[in-house]
Amino acid sequence: MVNRISVEDFNKLNGSFFKTNKKDTRKSREKELEDLWRELIKLRVGYKCEYPNCPKTEHLNSHHIYSRIHKSTKYDPDNGMCLCAGHHTLTSLSAHHDPDFKEIIIKNGIRTAEFYQKLKMRAFTPAKIDINLIKLDLENELRKYSK
Ligand SMILES: [Zn+2]
Repeated sequence: MVNRISVEDFNKLNGSFFKTNKKDTRKSREKELEDLWRELIKLRVGYKCEYPNCPKTEHLNSHHIYSRIHKSTKYDPDNGMCLCAGHHTLTSLSAHHDPDFKEIIIKNGIRTAEFYQKLKMRAFTPAKIDINLIKLDLENELRKYSK
């Protein structure tokens, strides 16, 4: 079953973002960005694992292709892949453990080699993070897929 975010939950995510209380620190705002990013990565593929021929639609994770330590691509939708827990971290065939993971993804046409090259350039190019702009972009993307 496809389990999409409801309009109500989406608005709740939004509403809490602009509250001006002590919790409204940069850290908590970035946490909300990460939540929006994680939801978008799953939503845009219809809540299924992107690994070739994997039927899993539950226990899904939003995988960062380039690590979250790269600020410039931390909230970039291109840097995300929806994977089941097994293909994310738990098995020897997972993104975090299989040295050939990227090659398998390319070979099966899930992403292209060119895509990875461009993403790598962005990941390793330092960029200043504009939280408000990123939030708007993620919200627009989410809206696109929520219809
Ligand atoms: Zn999977």
